[in-house]
Amino acid sequence: MSPEGTTETLVIIGSGPAAWTAALYAARANLEPLVIEGAPSREMIPGGQLMFTTDIENFPGFPEGLGGQELMERMKQQAVRFGTRTLQDDVASVELDGQPFVLRTAWSGEVRAKAVIVATGARANWLGLPNEERLAQSGGGVSACAVCDGALPAFRGKRLVVVGGGDSAMEEAMYLTKFAGEVVIIHRRDSFRASQVMQDRALHHEKIRVRWNAQVVDVLGDGFVTGVRLKDTVTGAEEEFECGGVFVAIGHTPNTAFLGGRVELMPNGYIKLPTPWRTETTVPGVFAAGDVADDYYRQAITAAGSGCMAALEAERWLAHHGVAQAEVPVIETAESSIGMAEAQA
Ligand code: NAP
Repeated sequence: MSPEGTTETLVIIGSGPAAWTAALYAARANLEPLVIEGAPSREMIPGGQLMFTTDIENFPGFPEGLGGQELMERMKQQAVRFGTRTLQDDVASVELDGQPFVLRTAWSGEVRAKAVIVATGARANWLGLPNEERLAQSGGGVSACAVCDGALPAFRGKRLVVVGGGDSAMEEAMYLTKFAGEVVIIHRRDSFRASQVMQDRALHHEKIRVRWNAQVVDVLGDGFVTGVRLKDTVTGAEEEFECGGVFVAIGHTPNTAFLGGRVELMPNGYIKLPTPWRTETTVPGVFAAGDVADDYYRQAITAAGSGCMAALEAERWLAHHGVAQAEVPVIETAESSIGMAEAQA
């Protein structure tokens, strides 16, 4: 971390694909970024949602696929190789009213920064069942991302359940029909919240059926899902329902609480980006990248792309506000000395 009294040029908060890509670009531009990665906790580990994904087959450049943890570790190493510094801590609160910005961490005191990229991601909401958590973490057939996991061989031809009644649930169900024998949407009420067009699409699909008024109260299976226990929300009756995979689609929560309302959010809690195709937030000098500002794509590759955009915008903003690149020293790395020409290549 920065010595007391100094101000960081650029701090990146987060440790998913958006954060590491932003760090890579910023480091290669000699901004010596500090990444505040987050601290490990029961709910979260540095690296974000991909740390819970066993096989990633849709990140370009890895034709054989790779694990989420490996992808995050490789991204981190690449950013560190060019001079990124890291701090495993949480940002608990921020002061963004004037320069420098002040970030208060949970354990390491204050970090001051001229520019900040928020890339703290979003958390998939879970039902909160112990077996759901166990099987999600072990790659045992419980997932919150059909696009990430649906194509895995273990789900082929099986009966898969999707929990939820919003657009995400419709979308997940539609996506899973490519691989599943049958998809059953389990919803706790007797009508969907999803947009009409999305529900029509799902309701008319030959492989999709709906189990109304049912709540999943347990997930069954030792090493891999074998079924769920359902409770009828009208009668209270419980039953076991056989299935070979559970996709939870009950919404996401962007990780913005630490901002304390100092950056404007959209009504659904995601960070507002006032200008299309830009990552600047409503606070000049504060940029947002990845899922924390994206309620639509939520993919590793789109997060990485927006991390690149945020770093380029931050670099230009800093140059415009008196932090010329010439002030930043050349970085010596283990393999090479990276000068201006190369950093800007
Ligand atoms: P959402 O609209 O908040 O829907 C969440 C669904 O999960 C609701 O049906 C809710 O049930 C159910 N649910 C919540 N907690 C639950 C629990 N503990 N147990 C069982 N069910 C539970 O979330 P979303 O579907 O992720 O959509 C979020 C936003 O993204 C929406 O604005 C949506 O339009 C947008 N989105 C758009 C697209 C698209 O246009 N292609 C795709 C995905 C998402 P109740 O209905 O009973 O509350």
